[in-house]
Amino acid sequence: MTAADGFAYRNGELHCGDFRIEDIAHELGTPLYLYNLDAVLERFEQHRAAFSSFSHRTSYAVKANSSLPLLQALANAGCGFDVNSRGELHRVLTAGADARRITMTGVGKSRADIEDGLAAGIALFNVESASECRLISELAEAKGVVADVLLRLNPDVETETHPYISTGEAAHKFGLSPADIHSLASQAAWLPGLRIAGLAFHLGSQILSPAPYAQGLRVLLKVLDDITPMLERAPDIIDIGGGFGVRYEERHGELLPGQVAAVLAEVLGTREETWTLITEPGRSLVANAGVLVSSVEHVKPSEDRNFLILDAGMNDLLRPALYQASHGILPLRSDDSHVQMYDVVGPVCESSDTFALRYPLPGLDRGDRVAVLSAGAYGASMSSNYNSRPLAAEAVVYRGRWHVARDRQSLDDLMRGEHPLPL
Ligand SMILES: *Cc1c(COP(=O)(O)O)cnc(C)c1O
Repeated sequence: MTAADGFAYRNGELHCGDFRIEDIAHELGTPLYLYNLDAVLERFEQHRAAFSSFSHRTSYAVKANSSLPLLQALANAGCGFDVNSRGELHRVLTAGADARRITMTGVGKSRADIEDGLAAGIALFNVESASECRLISELAEAKGVVADVLLRLNPDVETETHPYISTGEAAHKFGLSPADIHSLASQAAWLPGLRIAGLAFHLGSQILSPAPYAQGLRVLLKVLDDITPMLERAPDIIDIGGGFGVRYEERHGELLPGQVAAVLAEVLGTREETWTLITEPGRSLVANAGVLVSSVEHVKPSEDRNFLILDAGMNDLLRPALYQASHGILPLRSDDSHVQMYDVVGPVCESSDTFALRYPLPGLDRGDRVAVLSAGAYGASMSSNYNSRPLAAEAVVYRGRWHVARDRQSLDDLMRGEHPLPL
């Protein structure tokens, strides 16, 4: 029917699991993010099963969606986490994550980020510069511990994705070149607070072909073979990042984890070593398990088009404005009569605050509601208070219940911590 996991029409009304979305929206108001956690867990199990022939760990990229109930459900299911900041670390620990399944990544880790990671006893730091290696080593040594690190390789692999979400080419700020990694490994003895436990790469996001992963892995193995003789203990972890592309529109494809597992097995085929393989899926676990529910604020006919002005905007869901991303939109009440073309826009004072152009929807009026699909990844987690708009409420459906994950921000919340002049 649609590119949505765990959302379907029943008797003409769009449901999330067993719940009429209209009922939840009526109670919580809009804009409202709604996630189907059962669908997220199903995706996680598919992902895990695809890599079951490897010694494998899934490390969910928290930045895609950091809603607490979602993190709890994944932690309960045995999923690990990739955190990009001490804030994300705090969230996953609050959600009950096992520190031994947490990796801290990020190109600009601060001293506080690293200190929090060490204090929590996380499994790994994925490091991206020599400067960071020295800082981690120094801080770990001061604590009397040795931190396991993966060096993030920039494999210089091209991916056919949007330039803003491609990360694995030499010109990008991410990762270390093979030469940098060689040089770091040769200095490992002078970094007593860390151990190089393996190599990592992350190619970018919304990748739809498995080929770049095979290419990246070949480069990684070469670098691994280069550095292994220099290290006291052979590195035994390979982390291939995330980036598995999802189906945003019916006509598009998606990259299945099984396709990636198959090309990795092929590349590793003749090698004798046993590695732990880490994958870092973000988007592919959550994108299609979430929608942004929004109400029609106004319908505005103009000379050659009809504007459908929603109460959700680019501050709630930035992807269309930032990446020219397209999302499907469905009315909560299905109705094939009077279908019209709308330009679906938000209320923010920017022309880029546009969800869709010439989009077919039934005749809608003020107060009618729609669901913007595939909003589970990089939706709420990228939202802002631009135009002084309070952050949307968030709710989840999980095991036959629905639950408020986050209250809508109030106007007081909006200005918390601000200080007017004492005039
Ligand atoms: C963002 C990110 C991911 C997740 O990417 P998706 O496209 O959401 O799967 C994984 N690893 C790293 C290092 C990232 O920065």
